[in-house]
Amino acid sequence: MKTIDLIKPDIYDAFQCKGAACRRTCCTGWRITVSKSEYQDLKAKLKHIDARSLQRLPETERTSKMYGEFVLEDETGCSLQSKEGLCQLQLSYGAEALPDVCAFFPRKGLRAGDEMELSLTPACERVLELLMEKEGSLEFVRQNEPLPPLPAAQISGRTAKADWKRHIQLEEFCILLLQAEDISLDQRMALLGLGIHEIDAYYKNGEGHKISSYIDQYLAALSETEDVSTLLPLKAFHPSFLLGNFFSFTAFSSRFAEVLDKVNKELQITVRAGSEPGTLAFSYPTEEYVRRRKQFDEFETRHPFFLENTMVMLFVLEHWASRPSDLHSIWEQYMYACWVYSNLKLALTACIETAASDEDLLDICVILLRGWIHSAEPKKQAIKHFHDTGCDTPAHMAMLVQAGGLHRWKNHLKKR
Ligand code: SF4
Repeated sequence: MKTIDLIKPDIYDAFQCKGAACRRTCCTGWRITVSKSEYQDLKAKLKHIDARSLQRLPETERTSKMYGEFVLEDETGCSLQSKEGLCQLQLSYGAEALPDVCAFFPRKGLRAGDEMELSLTPACERVLELLMEKEGSLEFVRQNEPLPPLPAAQISGRTAKADWKRHIQLEEFCILLLQAEDISLDQRMALLGLGIHEIDAYYKNGEGHKISSYIDQYLAALSETEDVSTLLPLKAFHPSFLLGNFFSFTAFSSRFAEVLDKVNKELQITVRAGSEPGTLAFSYPTEEYVRRRKQFDEFETRHPFFLENTMVMLFVLEHWASRPSDLHSIWEQYMYACWVYSNLKLALTACIETAASDEDLLDICVILLRGWIHSAEPKKQAIKHFHDTGCDTPAHMAMLVQAGGLHRWKNHLKKR
Protein backbone atom coordinates (compact mmCIF):
# COMPACT_ATOMS: atom_id res chain seq x y z
CA MET A 1 0.00 0.00 0.00
CA LYS A 2 1.32 3.44 -0.91
CA THR A 3 2.23 5.52 2.12
CA ILE A 4 2.83 9.24 2.36
CA ASP A 5 4.09 11.78 4.92
CA LEU A 6 0.98 13.48 6.27
CA ILE A 7 1.15 16.81 8.11
CA LYS A 8 -2.10 17.37 9.96
CA PRO A 9 -3.57 19.34 12.88
CA ASP A 10 -3.92 17.24 16.03
CA ILE A 11 -7.74 17.49 15.90
CA TYR A 12 -7.88 16.06 12.36
CA ASP A 13 -8.49 12.43 13.31
CA ALA A 14 -10.98 13.40 16.02
CA PHE A 15 -13.36 14.88 13.45
CA GLN A 16 -16.58 13.00 12.99
CA CYS A 17 -19.59 14.44 11.21
CA LYS A 18 -22.54 15.14 13.54
CA GLY A 19 -24.98 13.97 10.87
CA ALA A 20 -28.59 14.77 11.66
CA ALA A 21 -27.52 16.35 15.00
CA CYS A 22 -25.80 19.21 13.12
CA ARG A 23 -27.87 22.38 13.44
CA ARG A 24 -26.52 23.91 10.21
CA THR A 25 -25.54 21.02 7.99
CA CYS A 26 -23.19 21.60 5.08
CA CYS A 27 -26.16 20.96 2.77
CA THR A 28 -27.17 24.59 3.27
CA GLY A 29 -25.77 28.11 3.19
CA TRP A 30 -23.68 28.02 -0.02
CA ARG A 31 -23.46 26.67 -3.56
CA ILE A 32 -22.72 22.93 -3.70
CA THR A 33 -21.06 22.37 -7.06
CA VAL A 34 -19.94 19.19 -8.85
CA SER A 35 -17.61 18.41 -11.76
CA LYS A 36 -18.81 17.45 -15.25
CA SER A 37 -18.16 13.73 -14.77
CA GLU A 38 -19.89 13.78 -11.38
CA TYR A 39 -22.82 15.65 -12.90
CA GLN A 40 -23.30 13.02 -15.58
CA ASP A 41 -23.04 10.16 -13.09
CA LEU A 42 -25.38 11.81 -10.59
CA LYS A 43 -27.97 12.73 -13.19
CA ALA A 44 -28.40 9.05 -14.01
CA LYS A 45 -28.80 8.13 -10.33
CA LEU A 46 -31.09 11.03 -9.49
CA LYS A 47 -33.60 9.98 -12.15
CA HIS A 48 -34.81 7.52 -9.53
CA ILE A 49 -34.94 10.05 -6.69
CA ASP A 50 -35.45 13.63 -7.82
CA ALA A 51 -34.00 14.60 -11.20
CA ARG A 52 -34.67 18.30 -10.59
CA SER A 53 -32.39 18.43 -7.55
CA LEU A 54 -29.28 18.89 -9.73
CA GLN A 55 -28.86 21.45 -12.47
CA ARG A 56 -26.18 22.72 -14.82
CA LEU A 57 -24.45 25.98 -13.84
CA PRO A 58 -25.14 28.97 -16.13
CA GLU A 59 -23.03 28.65 -19.30
CA THR A 60 -20.80 31.59 -18.37
CA GLU A 61 -19.78 29.92 -15.09
CA ARG A 62 -19.52 26.32 -16.33
CA THR A 63 -16.11 24.59 -16.34
CA SER A 64 -15.21 20.90 -16.25
CA LYS A 65 -14.45 21.19 -12.50
CA MET A 66 -17.52 23.28 -11.68
CA TYR A 67 -20.23 22.07 -14.00
CA GLY A 68 -23.41 21.51 -12.02
CA GLU A 69 -24.93 22.46 -8.68
CA PHE A 70 -27.53 21.08 -6.34
CA VAL A 71 -30.77 23.02 -6.14
CA LEU A 72 -31.10 24.58 -2.69
CA GLU A 73 -34.27 25.55 -0.88
CA ASP A 74 -34.01 28.85 1.02
CA GLU A 75 -34.71 27.40 4.44
CA THR A 76 -33.69 23.77 4.27
CA GLY A 77 -30.81 23.76 1.78
CA CYS A 78 -30.18 20.80 -0.53
CA SER A 79 -33.48 19.44 -1.79
CA LEU A 80 -32.14 15.89 -1.46
CA GLN A 81 -32.25 16.13 2.34
CA SER A 82 -35.02 14.16 3.99
CA LYS A 83 -37.14 15.66 6.79
CA GLU A 84 -34.77 14.03 9.28
CA GLY A 85 -31.81 15.76 7.65
CA LEU A 86 -30.52 12.61 5.95
CA CYS A 87 -29.17 12.53 2.40
CA GLN A 88 -31.46 10.59 0.03
CA LEU A 89 -28.64 10.03 -2.43
CA GLN A 90 -26.54 8.35 0.26
CA LEU A 91 -29.52 6.39 1.58
CA SER A 92 -30.24 5.00 -1.90
CA TYR A 93 -26.75 4.41 -3.28
CA GLY A 94 -24.36 4.46 -0.31
CA ALA A 95 -21.58 6.92 0.60
CA GLU A 96 -19.60 6.04 -2.57
CA ALA A 97 -22.27 7.78 -4.67
CA LEU A 98 -21.59 11.18 -3.08
CA PRO A 99 -19.69 13.77 -5.13
CA ASP A 100 -16.28 14.83 -3.77
CA VAL A 101 -17.60 18.05 -2.22
CA CYS A 102 -20.06 16.09 -0.03
CA ALA A 103 -17.84 13.07 0.60
CA PHE A 104 -14.76 14.94 1.79
CA PHE A 105 -16.09 18.15 3.38
CA PRO A 106 -14.70 19.58 5.70
CA ARG A 107 -11.31 18.04 4.82
CA LYS A 108 -8.83 19.64 2.45
CA GLY A 109 -5.40 18.53 1.25
CA LEU A 110 -2.35 19.99 -0.46
CA ARG A 111 0.22 17.60 -1.85
CA ALA A 112 3.74 17.77 -3.23
CA GLY A 113 5.43 14.46 -4.10
CA ASP A 114 5.42 12.18 -1.07
CA GLU A 115 4.12 14.76 1.39
CA MET A 116 0.59 15.96 1.99
CA GLU A 117 -0.78 18.63 4.28
CA LEU A 118 -4.29 18.12 5.66
CA SER A 119 -6.65 20.68 7.15
CA LEU A 120 -10.29 21.09 8.16
CA THR A 121 -12.47 24.05 7.33
CA PRO A 122 -13.95 25.97 10.29
CA ALA A 123 -17.06 26.44 8.13
CA CYS A 124 -18.15 23.10 9.62
CA GLU A 125 -19.98 23.13 12.94
CA ARG A 126 -18.10 20.13 14.38
CA VAL A 127 -14.71 21.54 13.38
CA LEU A 128 -15.50 24.77 15.22
CA GLU A 129 -16.53 22.78 18.27
CA LEU A 130 -13.22 20.91 18.19
CA LEU A 131 -11.35 24.21 17.89
CA MET A 132 -13.25 25.56 20.88
CA GLU A 133 -12.93 22.41 22.99
CA LYS A 134 -9.15 22.24 22.53
CA GLU A 135 -7.46 23.35 25.74
CA GLY A 136 -4.29 24.64 24.16
CA SER A 137 -2.79 25.62 20.82
CA LEU A 138 -3.26 23.45 17.75
CA GLU A 139 -0.32 21.21 17.13
CA PHE A 140 0.66 19.80 13.76
CA VAL A 141 1.88 16.24 13.59
CA ARG A 142 3.85 14.52 10.82
CA GLN A 143 3.13 10.83 10.29
CA ASN A 144 3.82 8.32 7.57
CA GLU A 145 0.44 6.78 6.74
CA PRO A 146 -1.46 5.17 3.86
CA LEU A 147 -2.35 7.72 1.15
CA PRO A 148 -5.83 9.07 2.03
CA PRO A 149 -8.50 9.01 -0.74
CA LEU A 150 -8.87 12.81 -0.41
CA PRO A 151 -8.56 14.65 -3.76
CA ALA A 152 -5.78 17.14 -2.91
CA ALA A 153 -4.49 20.20 -4.78
CA GLN A 154 -1.00 19.49 -6.16
CA ILE A 155 2.19 21.49 -6.14
CA SER A 156 3.95 20.23 -9.24
CA GLY A 157 6.40 21.25 -11.95
CA ARG A 158 10.10 22.02 -12.09
CA THR A 159 10.16 24.11 -8.92
CA ALA A 160 7.75 21.93 -6.90
CA LYS A 161 10.33 20.91 -4.31
CA ALA A 162 11.47 24.48 -3.63
CA ASP A 163 7.86 25.77 -3.65
CA TRP A 164 6.80 23.15 -1.11
CA LYS A 165 9.77 23.91 1.13
CA ARG A 166 8.97 27.63 1.06
CA HIS A 167 5.29 26.96 1.73
CA ILE A 168 6.10 24.86 4.81
CA GLN A 169 8.64 27.41 6.04
CA LEU A 170 6.19 30.32 5.72
CA GLU A 171 3.43 28.35 7.33
CA GLU A 172 5.66 27.50 10.29
CA PHE A 173 6.57 31.19 10.60
CA CYS A 174 2.89 32.13 10.56
CA ILE A 175 1.91 29.51 13.16
CA LEU A 176 4.83 30.46 15.41
CA LEU A 177 3.73 34.09 15.49
CA LEU A 178 0.01 33.33 15.89
CA GLN A 179 0.79 31.09 18.84
CA ALA A 180 3.09 33.56 20.66
CA GLU A 181 0.81 33.60 23.68
CA ASP A 182 2.68 36.11 25.83
CA ILE A 183 1.18 38.93 23.73
CA SER A 184 -2.44 39.50 22.64
CA LEU A 185 -3.80 37.78 19.53
CA ASP A 186 -4.47 41.24 18.03
CA GLN A 187 -0.77 42.03 18.39
CA ARG A 188 0.26 38.65 16.98
CA MET A 189 -1.91 39.25 13.91
CA ALA A 190 -0.39 42.72 13.46
CA LEU A 191 3.21 41.52 13.87
CA LEU A 192 2.58 38.74 11.37
CA GLY A 193 1.55 41.48 8.93
CA LEU A 194 4.84 43.36 9.33
CA GLY A 195 6.66 40.15 8.39
CA ILE A 196 4.37 39.14 5.52
CA HIS A 197 4.63 42.61 3.98
CA GLU A 198 8.42 42.30 3.76
CA ILE A 199 8.30 38.71 2.54
CA ASP A 200 5.83 39.69 -0.15
CA ALA A 201 8.24 42.40 -1.33
CA TYR A 202 10.99 39.77 -1.65
CA TYR A 203 8.63 37.66 -3.77
CA LYS A 204 7.78 40.61 -6.02
CA ASN A 205 11.43 41.59 -6.49
CA GLY A 206 12.38 38.04 -7.44
CA GLU A 207 14.44 37.71 -4.24
CA GLY A 208 12.78 34.63 -2.80
CA HIS A 209 16.19 33.30 -1.76
CA LYS A 210 16.38 36.08 0.87
CA ILE A 211 13.15 35.08 2.65
CA SER A 212 14.72 32.48 4.89
CA SER A 213 17.33 34.79 6.41
CA TYR A 214 14.76 37.61 6.67
CA ILE A 215 12.50 35.35 8.79
CA ASP A 216 15.39 34.52 11.13
CA GLN A 217 16.29 38.20 11.50
CA TYR A 218 12.69 39.28 12.09
CA LEU A 219 12.06 36.60 14.73
CA ALA A 220 15.34 37.47 16.46
CA ALA A 221 14.42 41.18 16.45
CA LEU A 222 11.01 40.39 17.95
CA SER A 223 12.47 38.25 20.69
CA GLU A 224 14.83 41.10 21.65
CA THR A 225 12.03 43.68 21.76
CA GLU A 226 10.81 44.14 25.30
CA ASP A 227 7.49 45.76 24.41
CA VAL A 228 6.24 44.78 20.94
CA SER A 229 3.50 47.41 21.06
CA THR A 230 6.25 49.96 20.30
CA LEU A 231 6.46 48.38 16.82
CA LEU A 232 2.78 48.95 16.14
CA PRO A 233 0.69 52.11 15.57
CA LEU A 234 -0.69 53.66 18.75
CA LYS A 235 -4.13 54.11 17.29
CA ALA A 236 -6.72 51.43 16.51
CA PHE A 237 -9.77 51.94 14.33
CA HIS A 238 -12.98 52.97 16.07
CA PRO A 239 -15.61 50.21 16.20
CA SER A 240 -17.88 52.18 13.86
CA PHE A 241 -15.18 51.81 11.19
CA LEU A 242 -15.49 48.06 11.65
CA LEU A 243 -19.20 48.26 11.26
CA GLY A 244 -19.03 50.05 7.90
CA ASN A 245 -16.50 47.47 6.81
CA PHE A 246 -18.67 44.59 7.94
CA PHE A 247 -21.82 45.85 6.27
CA SER A 248 -20.19 46.90 3.00
CA PHE A 249 -18.95 43.44 2.08
CA THR A 250 -21.43 41.26 3.87
CA ALA A 251 -24.64 43.00 2.86
CA PHE A 252 -24.34 42.07 -0.81
CA SER A 253 -25.30 38.45 -0.23
CA SER A 254 -28.60 37.20 1.16
CA ARG A 255 -26.67 34.31 2.76
CA PHE A 256 -25.64 36.64 5.57
CA ALA A 257 -29.06 38.22 6.10
CA GLU A 258 -29.66 36.34 9.35
CA VAL A 259 -26.44 37.60 10.96
CA LEU A 260 -26.74 41.12 9.53
CA ASP A 261 -30.18 41.37 10.97
CA LYS A 262 -28.96 40.27 14.40
CA VAL A 263 -25.98 42.67 14.40
CA ASN A 264 -28.30 45.48 13.33
CA LYS A 265 -30.82 44.85 16.08
CA GLU A 266 -28.34 44.10 18.84
CA LEU A 267 -26.27 47.25 18.35
CA GLN A 268 -29.30 49.40 17.46
CA ILE A 269 -27.56 50.70 14.39
CA THR A 270 -28.48 53.93 12.64
CA VAL A 271 -27.42 54.37 9.01
CA ARG A 272 -27.13 57.80 7.36
CA ALA A 273 -25.44 59.30 4.30
CA GLY A 274 -21.67 59.56 4.77
CA SER A 275 -19.51 62.66 4.25
CA GLU A 276 -18.34 61.39 0.82
CA PRO A 277 -21.01 61.17 -1.90
CA GLY A 278 -22.41 57.65 -2.26
CA THR A 279 -21.07 56.49 1.13
CA LEU A 280 -22.89 55.49 4.29
CA ALA A 281 -22.06 56.24 7.90
CA PHE A 282 -23.00 53.92 10.76
CA SER A 283 -23.52 54.74 14.40
CA TYR A 284 -24.93 53.08 17.50
CA PRO A 285 -25.22 53.84 21.21
CA THR A 286 -21.75 53.53 22.75
CA GLU A 287 -23.00 51.72 25.82
CA GLU A 288 -24.51 48.94 23.69
CA TYR A 289 -21.11 48.19 22.20
CA VAL A 290 -19.16 48.57 25.45
CA ARG A 291 -21.42 46.21 27.40
CA ARG A 292 -21.22 43.53 24.75
CA ARG A 293 -17.49 43.92 24.28
CA LYS A 294 -16.98 43.24 27.99
CA GLN A 295 -18.99 40.05 27.56
CA PHE A 296 -16.93 39.14 24.50
CA ASP A 297 -13.73 39.64 26.50
CA GLU A 298 -15.15 37.24 29.12
CA PHE A 299 -15.96 34.74 26.36
CA GLU A 300 -12.32 34.96 25.22
CA THR A 301 -11.17 34.36 28.80
CA ARG A 302 -13.39 31.26 28.95
CA HIS A 303 -12.09 29.99 25.61
CA PRO A 304 -8.57 31.43 25.40
CA PHE A 305 -7.56 29.32 22.40
CA PHE A 306 -10.70 29.47 20.28
CA LEU A 307 -9.91 32.48 18.09
CA GLU A 308 -6.21 31.62 17.92
CA ASN A 309 -6.95 28.06 16.80
CA THR A 310 -9.56 29.22 14.32
CA MET A 311 -7.15 31.70 12.74
CA VAL A 312 -4.31 29.15 12.63
CA MET A 313 -6.61 26.64 10.94
CA LEU A 314 -7.79 29.26 8.44
CA PHE A 315 -4.23 30.29 7.56
CA VAL A 316 -3.30 26.64 6.97
CA LEU A 317 -6.51 25.83 5.07
CA GLU A 318 -6.32 28.87 2.80
CA HIS A 319 -2.49 29.14 2.63
CA TRP A 320 -3.03 32.86 3.18
CA ALA A 321 0.52 33.55 4.32
CA SER A 322 2.37 30.86 2.41
CA ARG A 323 1.17 30.52 -1.19
CA PRO A 324 0.15 33.36 -3.49
CA SER A 325 -2.95 32.42 -5.53
CA ASP A 326 -3.50 33.14 -9.24
CA LEU A 327 -5.30 36.34 -8.23
CA HIS A 328 -3.75 37.51 -4.99
CA SER A 329 -0.32 37.95 -3.41
CA ILE A 330 0.33 36.71 0.14
CA TRP A 331 0.13 40.31 1.36
CA GLU A 332 -3.34 40.68 -0.18
CA GLN A 333 -4.42 37.37 1.30
CA TYR A 334 -3.10 38.47 4.69
CA MET A 335 -5.18 41.68 4.39
CA TYR A 336 -8.23 39.53 3.83
CA ALA A 337 -7.32 37.44 6.88
CA CYS A 338 -7.33 40.70 8.93
CA TRP A 339 -10.72 41.55 7.49
CA VAL A 340 -12.13 38.15 8.43
CA TYR A 341 -10.58 38.28 11.92
CA SER A 342 -11.85 41.76 12.82
CA ASN A 343 -15.32 41.19 11.39
CA LEU A 344 -15.72 37.83 13.07
CA LYS A 345 -14.94 39.50 16.41
CA LEU A 346 -17.38 42.31 15.67
CA ALA A 347 -20.22 39.92 14.81
CA LEU A 348 -19.60 37.79 17.90
CA THR A 349 -19.40 40.90 20.09
CA ALA A 350 -22.69 42.23 18.73
CA CYS A 351 -24.55 38.95 19.17
CA ILE A 352 -23.07 37.78 22.47
CA GLU A 353 -25.62 39.29 24.84
CA THR A 354 -28.62 37.39 23.51
CA ALA A 355 -26.77 34.22 22.55
CA ALA A 356 -28.23 31.50 24.75
CA SER A 357 -25.08 29.40 24.53
CA ASP A 358 -21.61 29.20 23.02
CA GLU A 359 -23.17 26.98 20.32
CA ASP A 360 -25.23 29.98 19.16
CA LEU A 361 -21.99 31.91 18.68
CA LEU A 362 -20.42 29.03 16.77
CA ASP A 363 -23.46 29.02 14.51
CA ILE A 364 -22.78 32.67 13.64
CA CYS A 365 -19.19 31.73 12.79
CA VAL A 366 -20.44 28.92 10.53
CA ILE A 367 -22.76 31.23 8.58
CA LEU A 368 -20.10 33.90 8.10
CA LEU A 369 -17.18 31.62 7.32
CA ARG A 370 -19.17 29.66 4.72
CA GLY A 371 -19.61 32.87 2.78
CA TRP A 372 -16.26 34.49 3.53
CA ILE A 373 -14.01 31.48 3.00
CA HIS A 374 -15.78 29.35 0.44
CA SER A 375 -16.65 32.04 -2.05
CA ALA A 376 -14.24 34.26 -3.98
CA GLU A 377 -16.34 37.43 -4.06
CA PRO A 378 -15.97 38.87 -0.52
CA LYS A 379 -12.21 38.39 -0.71
CA LYS A 380 -11.99 40.14 -4.08
CA GLN A 381 -14.18 43.01 -2.85
CA ALA A 382 -12.36 43.53 0.45
CA ILE A 383 -8.89 43.49 -1.15
CA LYS A 384 -10.02 45.92 -3.85
CA HIS A 385 -11.46 48.20 -1.17
CA PHE A 386 -8.17 48.22 0.79
CA HIS A 387 -6.26 49.17 -2.36
CA ASP A 388 -8.79 51.77 -3.55
CA THR A 389 -8.86 53.54 -0.19
CA GLY A 390 -5.11 53.42 0.41
CA CYS A 391 -5.68 51.24 3.50
CA ASP A 392 -3.39 48.51 2.14
CA THR A 393 -0.46 49.14 4.51
CA PRO A 394 0.83 47.19 7.54
CA ALA A 395 -0.12 50.14 9.77
CA HIS A 396 -3.73 50.05 8.57
CA MET A 397 -3.91 46.30 9.09
CA ALA A 398 -2.50 46.68 12.61
CA MET A 399 -5.22 49.26 13.35
CA LEU A 400 -7.86 46.98 11.85
CA VAL A 401 -7.01 43.87 13.86
CA GLN A 402 -6.80 45.90 17.07
CA ALA A 403 -10.05 47.78 16.41
CA GLY A 404 -12.86 47.68 18.89
CA GLY A 405 -10.82 46.73 21.98
CA LEU A 406 -12.19 48.64 24.97
CA HIS A 407 -8.88 49.90 26.31
CA ARG A 408 -7.70 51.38 23.02
CA TRP A 409 -11.06 52.73 22.10
CA LYS A 410 -11.51 54.52 25.44
CA ASN A 411 -8.10 56.15 25.05
CA HIS A 412 -9.13 57.22 21.60
CA LEU A 413 -12.31 58.78 22.93
CA LYS A 414 -10.47 60.64 25.69
CA LYS A 415 -8.12 62.23 23.17
CA ARG A 416 -10.97 63.54 21.02
S1 SF4 B 1 -21.28 20.93 8.80
FE1 SF4 B 1 -19.79 19.38 9.53
S2 SF4 B 1 -20.81 18.33 11.23
FE2 SF4 B 1 -22.39 19.45 10.08
S3 SF4 B 1 -23.20 17.98 8.59
FE3 SF4 B 1 -21.54 19.07 7.53
S4 SF4 B 1 -19.68 17.85 7.92
FE4 SF4 B 1 -21.24 17.15 9.37
